[in-house]
Amino acid sequence: MKPKRREGNTRFRLVLTLGFAVVLPALALIFVSFQHVKSIQRDKKVEALIHRDFLYLLANSAKKINGKGYELADQAREAFPSEADSDDEKRRKLDLLLAKSPWFEHAVMYDAKKGAVVQQQRSIADEKETANLQKMYGAWWGLEGQYMVDQVCKKPKPITWYGGESDRPGGTVYTATAIFAFPQFPKDRPILGAVSFDPKYLKQTFFPQMLDELTAQGFGSDSSEHEEQRLAMLVYPADTLRSEPDRPLATSAGWSGKPEVSQSLDDPFRGLAIGIKFQGTTAQAIGRKFVIQSSLILGVLSVLMIGGLVLTYRSVNKQVALARLKSDFVSNVSHELRTPLALIRLYAETLELGRITTDEKKNEYYSIIRKESERLTALINNILDFSRIEAGRKEYDFRETDIAELVRNTLDSYRFQIEQQGFALEEQIDPGIPTVKVDREAIARALVNLVNNALKYSDNEKFLGVRLYRDKSLLKLEVSDRGIGIERHEQTRIFEKFYRTGDPLVHNTKGSGLGLSLVRHITRAHGGDVEVESIPGRGSKFTLWLPLLQQPSA
Ligand code: ADP
Repeated sequence: MKPKRREGNTRFRLVLTLGFAVVLPALALIFVSFQHVKSIQRDKKVEALIHRDFLYLLANSAKKINGKGYELADQAREAFPSEADSDDEKRRKLDLLLAKSPWFEHAVMYDAKKGAVVQQQRSIADEKETANLQKMYGAWWGLEGQYMVDQVCKKPKPITWYGGESDRPGGTVYTATAIFAFPQFPKDRPILGAVSFDPKYLKQTFFPQMLDELTAQGFGSDSSEHEEQRLAMLVYPADTLRSEPDRPLATSAGWSGKPEVSQSLDDPFRGLAIGIKFQGTTAQAIGRKFVIQSSLILGVLSVLMIGGLVLTYRSVNKQVALARLKSDFVSNVSHELRTPLALIRLYAETLELGRITTDEKKNEYYSIIRKESERLTALINNILDFSRIEAGRKEYDFRETDIAELVRNTLDSYRFQIEQQGFALEEQIDPGIPTVKVDREAIARALVNLVNNALKYSDNEKFLGVRLYRDKSLLKLEVSDRGIGIERHEQTRIFEKFYRTGDPLVHNTKGSGLGLSLVRHITRAHGGDVEVESIPGRGSKFTLWLPLLQQPSA
């Protein structure tokens, strides 16, 4: 009973360890991970992250677009004529400036003393329009010139912007005009300059180019998580955000649908807004995909983890059982070694003392000594064979053998023991059994093991049957008894190493659990196998068969 309790304890400890150290943390991890994924889904965290990145990108883009506007205006201001130039000189210089800057529609230089000089881009130059502009600027700055100079000079850069949508014969257009003061010119009168962007250029070239450049840059190197998604951007009049979001001023390549995040532009392009989205997908779809992917991965990992735990549990369980079998084996074998040794010593000492006088008694003692030493040899042979098999070093010596004679001889050497133990031996060896190539010693050992088991595991009816016969192309050797038998579920396991059944008689009988595993190994090495038929309480029949035709080569 003791080893069972020990094993129970070990298993309980194992279950406890697995439970507390592995299963609980694993389940907690799985649970927390699923909760986390759920919270990502519930709080739309992925979308929020993407929108945050979008906002950051838009802020940067707005800065770049505005910067570019300022840069172009600044360049123009540098190339402006001097206040001391004549009107013609001014016109010539403005014309040169416009020729170099095709993005401007017209340029104006105003001097309160001399009036406004307007120059239009040559391709669109129109005298009437020039005259109109001259009048418009002259009137406007005639009134507000000084105020404007004061305002512009207060800014870090002496530039101010006027822009917005305006109606033209072709339709509504967006215009942007830079107005600048010249701090280096005399301050006694207002002197102002202006360049106005060509709406067509803004719409068809400036914004599309800027947007393509910005979307190509993407999120930059610092956020790689959206790498696979390509961006698209648009510029649209800000006040149409709600009323007419479908009327963009310009878009980058691959734009379709509505912006996910927008931001209005400041000077120089006040009145416009930029918007951003992914090409062909939305942050929501990405969020959904992320949640589905994460759940799938988590699911698969959980299944693997649980599978791993089950496997670990089973394998450790097996190891525990094997460890028990081994320790039982060691104690059984030591007992088995000790008993014959003690007997041999006892009878040899008795003989040595010379107290035994009758020959009959002496012979009995000699035979006991021989029998016990034979038992020892058989056991040691079993153990040696087993260790050779385990180490993969077991070799067989196949020779042409008269197997009927081999069986008869083996039984003869056991006959005395068998009969002495009160067993009825029924030996039936068919005549005309052909010779076969076998390892004599190994086959004899297999038979001895089967016979020994029949003797060991019989209690009421002491019968031993040994039958050798030919069954078509097979040679069969049967060893039967009418002993305790073997439960059905144990009939395959008894051939495993160290395995012993739970029967009380087996417990009280010494054994190593190696015999049948050796028998199986031996017969399989001969190209055959061993089978058992048994009814608990009625007896067992072990049949060892060898092929007659196909003999293993030596
Ligand atoms: P051992 O006899 O040393 O225990 P074996 O490998 O020869 O080891 O046998 C394994 C187990 O199979 C035995 O412990 C016993 O439980 C069962 N067994 C073997 N032969 C018989 C038999 N003839 N009748 C009943 N049980 C048997």
